Amino acid sequence: MTTPDTTATVDLPLAFDNRFAGLPPAFYTHLQSTPVPAPYLVGFSDDAAATIGLSRAALDDPAVLDVFSGNRTATGSRPLAAVYSGHQFGVWAGQLGDGRAITLGDVAAADGSGRIELQLKGSGKTPYSRGGDGRAVLRSSIREFLCSEAMAALGIPTTRALMVTGSDMRVLRESVETAAVVTRAAPSFIRFGSFEHWYYNQRHDELKVLADTVLAQFFPQLLQQSNPYQALLTEVTRRTAHLMAQWQAVGFMHGVMNTDNMSILGLTLDYGPFGFMEAFDSRHICNHTDQQGRYSYAMQPRIGQWNCFALGQALLPLIGSVEATEAALAGFEAIYDQRHAELMRAKLGLATVQAGDDALIDALFAILQANHVDFTLFFRRLGQLQLNNIGADAPLRDLVIDRPAFDAWAGQYRQRLRAEGSQDPARALAMNAVNPKYVLRNYLAQTAIERAAEKDFSELARLQAILRRPFDEQPEHQRYAELPPDWAAGLEVSCSS
Ligand code: AMP
Ligand code: MG
Repeated sequence: MTTPDTTATVDLPLAFDNRFAGLPPAFYTHLQSTPVPAPYLVGFSDDAAATIGLSRAALDDPAVLDVFSGNRTATGSRPLAAVYSGHQFGVWAGQLGDGRAITLGDVAAADGSGRIELQLKGSGKTPYSRGGDGRAVLRSSIREFLCSEAMAALGIPTTRALMVTGSDMRVLRESVETAAVVTRAAPSFIRFGSFEHWYYNQRHDELKVLADTVLAQFFPQLLQQSNPYQALLTEVTRRTAHLMAQWQAVGFMHGVMNTDNMSILGLTLDYGPFGFMEAFDSRHICNHTDQQGRYSYAMQPRIGQWNCFALGQALLPLIGSVEATEAALAGFEAIYDQRHAELMRAKLGLATVQAGDDALIDALFAILQANHVDFTLFFRRLGQLQLNNIGADAPLRDLVIDRPAFDAWAGQYRQRLRAEGSQDPARALAMNAVNPKYVLRNYLAQTAIERAAEKDFSELARLQAILRRPFDEQPEHQRYAELPPDWAAGLEVSCSS
């Protein structure tokens, strides 16, 4: 095979620019991706592509696949890898950066909301690769692709994934796997660690340039405030608190909440060893590498807050005082608690706020914990509860081993529902709109990955289509909503990707 010339440009139906390249040169390195042999399409998201006005038909031109495999460069794209630093597992890790991601540039959002950056993940080494090979394996790329789109469909802020391309090129992890490239899309991939980078290098001029750029591009309304940097921290703290509440409400666990994986826009970013809660255990650790459980389900909100403090530290020279920085951070707990309580009430179908709600919710979580109840199934079935028909509880009750505990709680719950005049059909409708029937269970992803490794991408497409409509019944796909099979218990996900 002749190596494609990645410097020769090709016209795409996308008008590329690269505003990140407008930052001073210290922020990034311009470079070309490293081509992969004979790329092929693995998955494509019509929904994500529509956000930039691209359709699947564009793939009829093989140049499109080449560009999104890193084998050719689109006109107007000035590819670059960005530098950042971060705290990993609570410890300052120093310089990191896009070690295997290359930002191609940005294109117009189809809805006129601004620009959207396109980034290739797994497209080869960069000056920030440290010891890594700059590649991503098919397995982790499919996981990122599926989960980005699943989260978007759940209404949770996230980076998107346009497509995955694969290549038979071999990549060594714990075993030999094959390479893939994910095209990610987001208004920005700037991280908390992007700010920490300049703070810890004592380069406050660059810190200011970054903050001013982020304010101007994404938070222009904050520029009117007396201290825009404090306002920025307040807003990022708010968004992060909301994001944590949303993760908890659907049982999403990120797995690697290092500050370099925290989006300044409050998006879910950098999908690695994530997982959705199945048998409920608040101490569950989805990342096999995280032995201390720093990023367990129960810890996520606190770590989200910790990460905001790390960002606050980095912004301190711009904000000007510790007091003003603390004031910006102070809102986290109250904002999180309120959002979390709102989401929990919605999950239980409670339309009003009443004294005792917290106790009712806590009592339910104690039952879920003690009985390791499947999180998604329980809440979905809870929506089918009928006020005056205890017999109809069976499918729900069957999920709980301690039936007397369930019956006692269900009695209190019915009383609470009656107290607000709740009606079964309306409540079921409202609960089905917030309690997903379908989430990306690890074993479902695993099945799609195993088929894809054999070049059968139909299961991936099917799963993707199901997860696009997580709240819809889709009776024809019932088996995707059921308890995981026994073999799924042995699945482990690590940082290796
Ligand atoms: P992560 O924990 O996946 O967010 O990665 C942490 C850092 O390691 C980031 O700077 C990544 O770009 C880098 N990294 C991870 N895997 C690789 C790889 N295979 N090659 C180069 N850099 C990598
Ligand atoms: Mg990362």
